[in-house]
Amino acid sequence: MSDLTRRSALLTAACAGAAFGLPKPVSFIEAALAQKGPESGKGFRPFKFDKVQGFILNDGVWEKPHDPSFIKNATVEETKAALAAAGIANEVVPIPFNVTLVKLGNETVLFDAGTGGQFQPTAGAMIANMAAAGIKPEQITRVIVSHFHPDHVFGLMSKAPDNTPTFPNAVVYVPGNEFKFWMDESIFTKLPERQHGLPKRLQAMFPLLKDKLKQYEWDTEIIPGIRSIAAPGHTPGHTAFHVASGSEQLMVLSDTTNMPALFAKHPNWHAVVDADPVLAEATRRKLFDRVVSDKALVTGYHFPFPAVGKIVTDGAGYTFVPAA
Ligand SMILES: [Zn+2]
Repeated sequence: MSDLTRRSALLTAACAGAAFGLPKPVSFIEAALAQKGPESGKGFRPFKFDKVQGFILNDGVWEKPHDPSFIKNATVEETKAALAAAGIANEVVPIPFNVTLVKLGNETVLFDAGTGGQFQPTAGAMIANMAAAGIKPEQITRVIVSHFHPDHVFGLMSKAPDNTPTFPNAVVYVPGNEFKFWMDESIFTKLPERQHGLPKRLQAMFPLLKDKLKQYEWDTEIIPGIRSIAAPGHTPGHTAFHVASGSEQLMVLSDTTNMPALFAKHPNWHAVVDADPVLAEATRRKLFDRVVSDKALVTGYHFPFPAVGKIVTDGAGYTFVPAA
């Protein structure tokens, strides 16, 4: 990375810090560390709003090799430049996994379940980081799932044939329309054969949860204080979540955007991981405009650790400003 890039990254972060009255500027060093994830044993970050105690639990990273098909309307060179502009080393696309947990009243709620060590060799640290934060899997009372991609649901249980639920006391909530899409037999005629592995696993996995599995609809209160927000495009049933306490709020953005350095800064870039990229872009702009005008605290599953902070407008796009 050039000194110029380094300096401009630092400046942007410092200005954003000042704009939010954060106690210290977001340091470039933190951004540089973010791509490798936190140090072992330190992959959790507490945060608080009103009466809610939150934690970000890091689950690792996907060091995705560059691939010209990853972003439909950006070249590998443009992708590398966008990563560098955010102070991120760009040899690969380092997609982080960060899970949001909130303690709300008597409930301990996990938003998505992590990879369960079943997706990328460089991921699967969430349970260790939960332990480091002083929380046991048995304490989780609800797991609220945003969509059915492997990095979000494989952590619900151990691998077949064992299939032991990771959170034995949790009720698992899934979006009804996502459930219908993936669990219907017709999925195997809709998707090419090379993509049949995921629905096969989902169709084996969810029935095992029996009466612990519940479906929710969009724009409803899932449990007191937590509402489901329609966020389609990434997948047909992809959902964000609004957590309210007193006059304060958190928006759990799920995969409304993948890495902000790429798709918040360039909301019009279309990732191959979005099932309907045009709809995903419309959702992204709508939700980002909402959290910008509300000055809401946000978390993002693929945001750089600590993955909690604010979204601000930045030229024609947006930027994620981590909480100090
Ligand atoms: Zn994801």
